Amino acid sequence: MENKNLLMIPGPTPVPEKVLLAQAQHPIGHRSPEFSEIIGEINENLKWLHQTQQDVLTVTASGTGAMEAGIINFLSPGDRVLVGCNGKFAERWADMSDAFGLQTERINAAWGEPLDPKVFREKLEADTNKEIKAVIITHSETSTGILNDLETINRHVKNHGEALIIVDAVTSLGAVNLPIDDWGLDVVASGSQKGYMIPPGLGFIAVSEKAWQAYETAKLPKFYFDLGAYRNSTAKNSTPYTPPINLMYGLKVALNMMREEGLENIFARHERNTKATREAVQALGLPLLAGNDAASRAVTAVAPTTVEAEKVRSVMKKQFDISLAGGQNQLKGKIFRIGHLGFVSERDVLTVISALEEVLRELGHETMTPGAGVAAATRVFAES
Ligand SMILES: *Cc1c(COP(=O)(O)O)cnc(C)c1O
Repeated sequence: MENKNLLMIPGPTPVPEKVLLAQAQHPIGHRSPEFSEIIGEINENLKWLHQTQQDVLTVTASGTGAMEAGIINFLSPGDRVLVGCNGKFAERWADMSDAFGLQTERINAAWGEPLDPKVFREKLEADTNKEIKAVIITHSETSTGILNDLETINRHVKNHGEALIIVDAVTSLGAVNLPIDDWGLDVVASGSQKGYMIPPGLGFIAVSEKAWQAYETAKLPKFYFDLGAYRNSTAKNSTPYTPPINLMYGLKVALNMMREEGLENIFARHERNTKATREAVQALGLPLLAGNDAASRAVTAVAPTTVEAEKVRSVMKKQFDISLAGGQNQLKGKIFRIGHLGFVSERDVLTVISALEEVLRELGHETMTPGAGVAAATRVFAES
């Protein structure tokens, strides 16, 4: 059947009809009072979502653009930075930091394992000359389905005193509690096609007072992503350059939907969907890549041994028109990933699990009790 795709990948994520319809309008002038009012409302709601009193800056870019803005505005060539490396997006931070001529120190962990906060503590405590200028962390590592222990790593950064903490929260913001002001996170980057329930095209950066101080002396070249210009415009409910007006229409509606649901409920829903997915997959006899205490709330990575991961994906798409994500880089062909980020309900999880059962049966996966996956998922939903 056509036009019935169920998008269960960790981005782009499904978009509510209300948001799609809001975008299907004529653009208006971005210097008009009407648009200024829209930006004002969006800015207030972005602060609410980010749990911060500071203005959150919006750039026209995918998440990677927001990450780049997070580097070039606060650092200078040759600055020493620690980068947590345990997946594809973490590697992107490290490559980016190399590209801008920073002195990049990779703190590695195996793909599928969380970063070890102790290693960060040791490096930071040993740095008595305060040469480390930033610690750069991917909170939810989408390529492996790992949620890194940002809270603990950040505590070690705070004890160091000088270094900024720069965070990729692209698939954690709007999925798991991330109290930016309470924790004192300095730079937090995210992108619209993940937890925000709108299409790709917008990047968001939250900036602390301490990071703004670093901005004053940062020497990396910048222009379009010079956040000083965004700070000045945002304070006046404006934008420095032409924003994607129609995406902003969608963002306004999506943020209002989030406010209506409430932060606690949004986090609880993601937690429930994550738990249901993980228990169902295990009940079907498939191993998970990430352990329970480091499970991303955006995506579950499954590492099947009895069937080929890519076959699961192709049969799932062909037979049920459900899109799952594959493995990336060294995990290509070894895992498939079920996204449950953003506009995803219990019904979507039950759909993907029951379809998975049928796909596994078709591929000859023997060790499975029929109905075990759905039973495990419904048990989680009934309990919470
Ligand atoms: C999606 C994603 C990004 C940004 O990717 P873009 O394609 O540039 O939007 C960055 N980090 C993580 C963890 C992601 O999942």
